[in-house]
Amino acid sequence: MSEPMLTLDEALTRLLVRARSTAVETVPLDAALGRVLAEPRLQAPISVPPFDNSAMDGYAVRAADTPGELSVGEEIAAGRAPGPGLEAGTARPIMTGGPMPAGADAVVPIEVAIEHDGRVQLAAADRGAYVRLAGSDTPAGSEVCLPGALTPAGVAVLASLGLGTVTVRRRPVVALLSTGDELVAPGNGLAPGQIHDANGPALAAAVVDAGGVPRRLPLVRDDAAAVEDALREASAGCDLVITSGGVSVGRHDHVRAVLEEAGSLDFWRIAVQPGKPLAVGSFGDATVVGLPGNPVSALVTFELFVRPFIRQAMGLDGDGRMRVRARPVAPIATDPPRRAFLRVTAWRDGSEIRARAAGGQGSAQLRPLAEANGLLIVPEGEAAADPARAYETIIIGSLP
Ligand code: AMP
Ligand code: MG
Repeated sequence: MSEPMLTLDEALTRLLVRARSTAVETVPLDAALGRVLAEPRLQAPISVPPFDNSAMDGYAVRAADTPGELSVGEEIAAGRAPGPGLEAGTARPIMTGGPMPAGADAVVPIEVAIEHDGRVQLAAADRGAYVRLAGSDTPAGSEVCLPGALTPAGVAVLASLGLGTVTVRRRPVVALLSTGDELVAPGNGLAPGQIHDANGPALAAAVVDAGGVPRRLPLVRDDAAAVEDALREASAGCDLVITSGGVSVGRHDHVRAVLEEAGSLDFWRIAVQPGKPLAVGSFGDATVVGLPGNPVSALVTFELFVRPFIRQAMGLDGDGRMRVRARPVAPIATDPPRRAFLRVTAWRDGSEIRARAAGGQGSAQLRPLAEANGLLIVPEGEAAADPARAYETIIIGSLP
């Protein structure tokens, strides 16, 4: 254990300086959810609402004519032009969203009106009652600011302003290479000694979850020339290459050596558990992150390093995860030199959040990761999560 290891924070800083902003593209508004506007500040091209309209089903009136009995004029439904102005002493039935006729300055809701024989008895209305003025939500020319990932409400604002397309940051394209002679694509049977490639599908899913576009490439054999060819193919036209496996010190681990010889290796070995043998470098124009082969290590280091990289490239900060403080119900052992990310099930318990190990903490034990909703962080130098204390916990699922 005497090899040098970078701290997570140092490694993350060194990786993130490589995250170049993606270019922009124009997409239909229906495809804008979760995207980041190229220019989050825009000038409203029109007012919302575009015209004065009724907030209720009722009667458009002059407030000064109320309370009282008025004769009933022509109806104004939503979507109709308002037609002629309001004649003095009359009330026009108006529906929610219907444009206010000239001369009217209030709406009396249907609930406080009694109509009979072409006349209507109306309760008192204040000027402006139940009228939504043009531009009362957004005046034309005002600044609208929608930073971060577009939400459904953000999409609604853009739609109400009449934008059919929006210019957003491109999603980063992430090429994925699974290395290992033992690997077989799921859907195929296993010969002796073989296992299914869990990392390829898992990392593709994690890329989508982080906002990127995965580009899966064929499985790569444990052979230096095959690894180099694969990196060459993968690195063309993508924002990031992720490899899994072959990055440690085994006789058949070639990824790091190929990076060193045919590309460049920036650093490797991070003081995290799981996931120590992580390598960062470049090949051609692409940044390469070599993730460990063990699926739990691959997914946890993806969470810690690649997810923030993808988000930063597309204009989002951090990992986008909720963080809580959770207290373990029993000790969970860790490897002291490294910062541990324990797979836990966390839940609210009164004013506290408690956590228990979601299962074994081995880096090949996938099921506990799939069942966990949190990664409980035990700092470097500590040998176990202590039930007397609460620990920062990254919520990767939902917290009941
Ligand atoms: P490596 O880092 O290549 O030494 O792999 C470490 C462990 O992870 C070995 O047990 C591999 O069989 C396993 N492993 C590597 N790649 C994958 C993968 N794509 N899917 C599932 N397990 C893998
Ligand atoms: Mg391997």
